[in-house]
Amino acid sequence: MMAAADTIFALASGAGRAAVAVMRLSGPATGPILEGIAGGLPPERRASLRRLRDPASGETLDRALVLWFPRPGSYTGEDSAELHLHGGPAVIAAVAGALACLGARPAEPGEFTRRAFLNGRLDLTAAEGIADLIAAETETQRRQALRQADGALARLHDEWAGRLSRLLAHQEAAIEFAEEGLPTDLGDRARAGAAALRAEIAAHLADAGKGERLREGLLVAILGAPNAGKSSLLNALAGREAAIVSAREGTTRDVVEVRLVLAGVPVTLADTAGLREAADEIEQEGIRRARRRAEEADLVLAVFAADGPPDAGTLDWVARGAVAVANKVDLAPAPPSIGGSQPLPVSALTGAGLDDLRARLAEQAERLVGGGDAALLTRPRHRAALTETIAWLEEAERAALPELVSEALHAALRALGRLTGRVGVEDLLDIVFRDFCIGK
Ligand code: GDP
Repeated sequence: MMAAADTIFALASGAGRAAVAVMRLSGPATGPILEGIAGGLPPERRASLRRLRDPASGETLDRALVLWFPRPGSYTGEDSAELHLHGGPAVIAAVAGALACLGARPAEPGEFTRRAFLNGRLDLTAAEGIADLIAAETETQRRQALRQADGALARLHDEWAGRLSRLLAHQEAAIEFAEEGLPTDLGDRARAGAAALRAEIAAHLADAGKGERLREGLLVAILGAPNAGKSSLLNALAGREAAIVSAREGTTRDVVEVRLVLAGVPVTLADTAGLREAADEIEQEGIRRARRRAEEADLVLAVFAADGPPDAGTLDWVARGAVAVANKVDLAPAPPSIGGSQPLPVSALTGAGLDDLRARLAEQAERLVGGGDAALLTRPRHRAALTETIAWLEEAERAALPELVSEALHAALRALGRLTGRVGVEDLLDIVFRDFCIGK
């Protein structure tokens, strides 16, 4: 356990005027600082009303609720405190000034949680879960973040690491016994165990990025020929005038995006320029961007106008799995089949079929991110650690000499340990804590 020398403080609540602002304090001087500003230490872990005074002039700065959390059972594992102030900028500034005057310094982004990690209060995946929980915008995101903050990924890691340690112990025993001339099948068992563990981790990696998708949100691109009604459809789905709708062809020159929540999943809908041979350069650029956005999209809506023939460019996307939508069914009936798939009949103008379209999108969103209660991987960093673990396990299965098997298993364990930060993490800390904001 590392003890930080500095005592840090930061506003834990949002900036701006509010009824209450929470100032957080952590580090070895927390006790003396509370004595200096609040006239003594209040009872542990209980809210006490105190007059906060300027340590130099004795002037009252605010009346506040003071909470004192002595180590080691605090969030950071250090002596820490919370001051629940009246949430005005002048109050916050005055109290911050007094804390600085008593020797505390403003915290860096993520520093409270970083200290919690360094003091063994949580592992890296739990710290990330807390960052995600603070960033969560939808119910499904909140659930995933909370699962991770509660240690779902760490438990999975611990189970794998436990098995890997046992394999390693068997392998090392096999080496020992061989030196004593005793025949054993321990080495073979270690190898078989490595293969089984590798298959299990690989299965977990093959989750189609559900956790990352939920964390980042889905991208749905709306494609179609000019005037098929893409902008109108986007506006109808978004319920506001987000894109410019025009009866002249080729008016959507760039990509217009709106954010919605479908089945608890954040979705970005991107309306794109019409797919056709562009007349001018600006429009050509719009079409290039549209294609690029569609390539990146998790889901593509291919929009056709029911009152005209389907265009080849958009048909290609149906062949590639896009959801076919026949718009303008107020003008003409939807064809029974477009590119071999039955289109969803809608009218952006009258609103017909939009509920079905929303339901279809929600269903797809669910399919793309739904993982039930599984401990999903939520960051590329998790994938990198597990991919490397798998590579070392393969190495262990292939290695000819027992010592090399043992070495590869050691390396696998180190790679796996990077997931939770229990092994070799120094270089990872910045990546993880970069996601935090001050005071968290
Ligand atoms: P985009 O170029 O694909 O984005 O198409 P727009 O959304 O700009 O629509 C082109 C034209 O079709 C506009 O005049 C719209 O008002 C009209 N339009 C769009 N959707 C419908 C619809 O469902 N029914 C009818 N009758 N007109 C529509």
